[in-house]
Amino acid sequence: MSTRHAVVSGASIAGLSAAFWLRRTGWEVTVLERSETFRDGGQNVDVRGIAREVLARMGLTEAVKEQNTTETGTVFVDENGEVIAELPSNGPDGATAEFEVLRGDFATTILRHLPEGVEVVYGDTIAEVTDDDRVTITTASRRVLHANLLVIAEGVRSSTRDLLFGDQVDRRDLGIAMVFGTIPRTPADDSRWRWYTTTQGRQIHLRPDNHGTTRAMLAHARAADLTRRDRAGALAEMRERFADAGWEAGRVLDGFDTSADVYVDQLTQIRMPTWHRGRVVLAGDAAWCVTPMGGGGASLALVSGYVLAACLSTTEGLAGYEKWMRPLVEDVQDFPGWMVPFAYPRTRLGLGLTRVVNRVMTSRLLAPLTERMTQVAYTEQALPPVAAAHH
Ligand SMILES: Cc1cc2nc3c(=O)[nH]c(=O)nc-3n(C[C@H](O)[C@H](O)[C@H](O)COP(=O)(O)OP(=O)(O)OC[C@H]3O[C@@H](n4cnc5c(N)ncnc54)[C@H](O)[C@@H]3O)c2cc1C
Repeated sequence: MSTRHAVVSGASIAGLSAAFWLRRTGWEVTVLERSETFRDGGQNVDVRGIAREVLARMGLTEAVKEQNTTETGTVFVDENGEVIAELPSNGPDGATAEFEVLRGDFATTILRHLPEGVEVVYGDTIAEVTDDDRVTITTASRRVLHANLLVIAEGVRSSTRDLLFGDQVDRRDLGIAMVFGTIPRTPADDSRWRWYTTTQGRQIHLRPDNHGTTRAMLAHARAADLTRRDRAGALAEMRERFADAGWEAGRVLDGFDTSADVYVDQLTQIRMPTWHRGRVVLAGDAAWCVTPMGGGGASLALVSGYVLAACLSTTEGLAGYEKWMRPLVEDVQDFPGWMVPFAYPRTRLGLGLTRVVNRVMTSRLLAPLTERMTQVAYTEQALPPVAAAHH
C-alpha cells in the first residue's frame, strides 16, 4: 500500500500533536505554518486529565516536567496584595496543575521530538482546497499539494476553517478581553499565581515562570474586541480601563509596553455541529475553542492529535475521532451562565459577594468540590488503540 499523505495547517499544540501521531502511524506529513518562523510565545497552559496519558505515550512526560513553570499554588489577593483565599493545588489538577508549562516551551518540546520525516513549512497558508478523490491544496505561494487528509489546526480564528466550513461555525463571544505578556520579575513576586479581582469587570494575574520573568495577564469583561486593534491600540485601551484598578496595574501596563511577547485574545467559544467533511478534519481551537474560561484548551489540543491518528489507524475513521472527542469538549464548554458575571463583578457590592464566595468555595469543607471544578479532559473512555503502521 502506498504511503498516505497528510497536510496539517498550523504548527501549534494541536497541529504538532497531529503531525507527531500521524507520522508515527505511517503517514507522510507536511505541516504548513502561516508565521515566518516557529511561534514560541505565550503564557501558561497545563496538561490535565487524559492529556497526561497522551504525553506519556509520546515519551514526553519528563521533557515537559523539566519545563515546569515552578508555580506552587494559587491565591486570590486584595488591593494590598493580602491573601483572601487559597485555591486547592494538591493533586495533579488543582488550579496550579502538576504540569504547568509555558505554551512556547510546550510547543517547542513537541516540535523537537517530532518523528523523523515530518516536513514543516513556514510562511505559507492555504488559499484553495478541492476535495474529490483526494485533497488538492493550493497555497498562497502557489505551491500545490495533493493529500489524502487535511487537518486544520489553525486556532480559534482559523481562516481555512471559515473557507471550508463557514456556515457551520457558531462563534460565541464571551465578552471578555485578555491581554497576556511577560514582564520583569520583582522581589515581591513569589512562587504563587496571584489573582486579583476588582470592580468594573477587571482582573489582574501574576504568575512565576522558569525563565526569571513574570507572566502577567489583564482581563476585562466589558472591553470592545481588542483583537481588531493593533498591539498599541489594544494596550492603550487596557491602560485606560485599568488606570484606577489598583494593586499592580501600573506595573503590568508599563511592563506590557516593552514586553516582546504580548498576546491579545477576545474569548470566543467555537461550536460546530461537525468537525469533518470528506477528507478534511478540524483539530484543537479551530474546531472547538473552549477559551481560558473553560480551561484545558492545550490538553484537548494535545489529545486530539493522538485520537485522530489512532482512529485513522483503525476502522473508526474521522467519525470515530469526532465521537470520542465530543463529550470532552462539551464538558468544558457548558459552564453555567452565572460564571462570567460572578468572576467579573461590576460593583463594590458584587465584588464583596465574589470574595465571600471565593472564601467559602476554598474552605476545607468545599475544597473537594472546587477541586473537581478545575478538572478538565477527564473521561471514562479509554484512549483508542493505535494499530501498527503499514506502509
Ligand atoms: C503565539 C501564541 C501565543 C499564545 N498565548 C496564549 C496565552 O498566553 N494564553 C492562552 O490562554 N492561550 C494562548 N495561546 C492559545 C493556545 O495555544 C491555544 O488555546 C491552545 O493551546 C490550543 O492550541 P491550537 O494548536 O489548537 O491553536 P493555537 O495555539 O492558536 O495555534 C494555531 C497555529 O496555527 C497558526 N495559523 C493560524 N492561522 C493559520 C493559517 N491560516 N495557516 C497556517 N497556520 C495558521 C498559528 O500561527 C498557530 O501557530 C497562544 C497561541 C499562540 C499561537
